[in-house]
Amino acid sequence: MLLENYAEGHWQPGSSGYRDLRDSVTGKTVAKTSSVGLNFEAMLAYARTIGGANLRTYGFHDRAYMLKALASYLMERKEELYALSYSTGATRADSWIDIEGGIMTLFAVSGKARREMPDGHVYVDGILEPLSRGGTFMGQHIALPLQGAAIHINAYNFPIWGALEKFGPAFIAGVPAIIKPASDGSYLTEAMVRMMVESEILPEGAVQLICGATGDLLDHVTCQDVISFTGSASTAGMLRARPNIIENSTRFIAEQDSLNGCVLGLDAAPGTPEFDLFIKEIASEISVKAGQKCTSIRRALVPHKFMDAAVKALRQRLAQISIGNPRDKATNMGALAGMGQRADVLMKLDILRAENPIVIGNVERFADSDGAYLEPIVMRCDNPLSKTDVHSVEAFGPVSTLMGYADTDEAITLLQKGGGSLVASVFSYDTDLTCDLIMGASAFHGRMLISDRDSGGESTGHGSPLPNLVHGGPGRAGGGEEMGGVRGVMHYMQRTAIQGSPAAIANITGEWIPGAKVRKVKTHPFRRVYKDLHIGDQLQTKSRKVTLADIELFANSTGDTFYAHMDADAAKANPFFEDRVAHGYLLLSWAAGLFVSPAPGPVLANTGLNNLAFMTPVYDGDEIKVQLTVRRKKRRTEDYGEVGWDVEITNQKDEICARYELLTMVAFTE
Ligand code: NAP
Repeated sequence: MLLENYAEGHWQPGSSGYRDLRDSVTGKTVAKTSSVGLNFEAMLAYARTIGGANLRTYGFHDRAYMLKALASYLMERKEELYALSYSTGATRADSWIDIEGGIMTLFAVSGKARREMPDGHVYVDGILEPLSRGGTFMGQHIALPLQGAAIHINAYNFPIWGALEKFGPAFIAGVPAIIKPASDGSYLTEAMVRMMVESEILPEGAVQLICGATGDLLDHVTCQDVISFTGSASTAGMLRARPNIIENSTRFIAEQDSLNGCVLGLDAAPGTPEFDLFIKEIASEISVKAGQKCTSIRRALVPHKFMDAAVKALRQRLAQISIGNPRDKATNMGALAGMGQRADVLMKLDILRAENPIVIGNVERFADSDGAYLEPIVMRCDNPLSKTDVHSVEAFGPVSTLMGYADTDEAITLLQKGGGSLVASVFSYDTDLTCDLIMGASAFHGRMLISDRDSGGESTGHGSPLPNLVHGGPGRAGGGEEMGGVRGVMHYMQRTAIQGSPAAIANITGEWIPGAKVRKVKTHPFRRVYKDLHIGDQLQTKSRKVTLADIELFANSTGDTFYAHMDADAAKANPFFEDRVAHGYLLLSWAAGLFVSPAPGPVLANTGLNNLAFMTPVYDGDEIKVQLTVRRKKRRTEDYGEVGWDVEITNQKDEICARYELLTMVAFTE
């Protein structure tokens, strides 16, 4: 199989310099790859002028729906990917993480975008910042897509997940992707990108693929491009130091290798559920994908007093793992990605075992095999504070070290010695201990998992990056922060502070703000379907007189007889009130009574309210009225959308008594 690149909208093979990609189990060539002959500068130009321009004609929700359709399409064709994946040495369970896990990230980011981003082109970031006394000048942060390309350079261990977890956020942002998988396993990525193209769901230019070296691609990046790199710290360091990248301040997100730790709590003695969870998790992390996961546990911290028991329990657990050809159903740990990777792991292992003895596993087993197999190897280190290699050398395979520690401070110091990691986990039922560990070590980690008997049954585990949580870590882990829902999308957008009048700002954001233009409408807005409601449509209600009888009736019927509503002397003694005050919740109910149009119509339900503030107390004899304005709209399904209304309740002196955003679901048709 000669792999092809997808460049400038066409499939094309490299012209020379082919590299053989071998099956990790049989050693036979499964594909040849080359990117020689590609015009990388033209690929970037195509991404910017065709892909980016096309993507930006759509809003966030349009792109989110396309992503959802793409995810469904890929899911239907997943078996074709599974069939290819065995050549990478992965079992079906391993490839589930890569293939279905990758596709699930598309579903997840699509859902997050539809729920948390506007149904438009401008992402509004944070609250309006009043910048003047009179309210005519204000500031608002917004974010718009960068006008360049997202260059995704990925590691070999997850050919599908690695590509999709980056593609989803970039696509939602509106930035076209150039995917460059690691050469090993790139036949899987190539097959998946073929499916993306064949789906005909994506706009032209949204995706390109390089199977092989990147040539002079990185010499042509600008301040509008984003490089998102996953791989080793050494490659990341070399790439991010390129003069063109430094000169242009090109965004460079790095997810690097990481010496992730886990801690067995001082309370988690053998026989406790936490001890069992700890052993199970290490065994899983060491064997899933043959330990070739960036999140794998490399340093497992065990109280000295439990060390012997931990070695024994882990040995028993690992003995149950059957290593072999991933195509065999009985196999639950396959091969490393190739002989090259196996040699690299053995080389790192030589460094590590010089410092600490191996207590589980035989390095020589499989030495004569054609497949890139390696048995799980565990070392024991009883004095890790005085060691260095165990905290700095990553053997990217089924390799881990059990390290003894004495107290919480020592555990924190040891976690920090990783120099910044993607993830650490804590196995303890002592919430004070877990709190201390999180407080002491989270600054060195992108994610921290607490595992105990309460959450253990449902926990997604130490090694699972999730699309709704950030994936990345400081320092040695690269300083990157991928995924995390909308946080991941923001990597591909520029945040800009816009300053101006309410009308000018509202026109950009598509969200009404006080002081912006309004349309006084004749028909009640509750009688109009979703599409006929416009931002700024406004209803002014008649007023209502507040009486003490109403306040007492509400108090007695609800049971809310708080003294400020019932006792004039007590209310006056309160620094906020001059007299008995109307309940805030009564005020909301009166407001609803003033603005609703009661007969059945397109408004289906009140689904909540945001940012409620009671600003001026309402007393017996006051006259209140409501101004109801369409603030923003968001399509939710094919049948209805969410409308956010600005509700302002004022008194007879035009003082604002309360303001909030009311959320309603409104039908598309009557
Ligand atoms: P790698 O050797 O650093 O390669 C990573 C990527 O960089 C590959 O696509 C590689 O392409 C490419 N590359 C290498 N040299 C390049 C250059 N001069 N210009 C442009 N691209 C270049 O890492 P790997 O061996 O694939 O992956 C294993 C490492 O990745 C481990 O250390 C692991 O910890 C880390 N990792 C981290 C994460 C994370 O999320 N933090 C996830 C997975 C893996 P070629 O293959 O074509 O050389």
